[in-house]
Amino acid sequence: MVTPALFAKYPDAPALAAAKTPDLEKMILSTGFFRQKSKSLIGMANMLVDEHGGQVPAAMEALTKLPGVGRKTANVVLGHALGVPGLPVDRHVLRVANRIGLVKNDDPVKVEAQLCEMLPPERWTRASDALILHGRRICKPKPLCPRCNVRPDCDFYRLGFTTKPVGRASVAKAAKKAVKKVVKKVARKVAKK
Ligand code: SF4
Repeated sequence: MVTPALFAKYPDAPALAAAKTPDLEKMILSTGFFRQKSKSLIGMANMLVDEHGGQVPAAMEALTKLPGVGRKTANVVLGHALGVPGLPVDRHVLRVANRIGLVKNDDPVKVEAQLCEMLPPERWTRASDALILHGRRICKPKPLCPRCNVRPDCDFYRLGFTTKPVGRASVAKAAKKAVKKVVKKVARKVAKK
């Protein structure tokens, strides 16, 4: 784990702002993209010192101006560190919310807005956590529907796509198959009459 040593060496924004790039790169090497990340970390710490008195601002607009901080990260910081309601949308939230049928959209910003509209602000962060964990453990790219408690409320399951990975092509194929099945069933019933 990288953070214990990192936070011990750079306990606040001024310490991180003064970090030497090679030292910081060495500490975060195992996380990947360490050159870009170290540049963002030092840039972010400098901006915190210069514009926010060394403190992390509790507002989306100010957070997303910091180097390396996007909307998803800003929502994580708001919801988990600063007690301000935020609903981070990552790939798990996108996949699970679309499969269940809560939303029908691939755009994280629109999905965030739609989910936020459905819930009171005090539940935003927990809802995102629940969708992320469900996406990691059960509703994976290849979903474990037979083990899932959400089945009765899930559009994806109701339509019969229980094992196929989500992808536009596979969803369209499975939808076609499901429609064919229904048409055949109806045709059989009509023929019996
Ligand atoms: S029933 Fe399947 S698709 Fe629906 S939420 Fe559960 S795992 Fe995901």
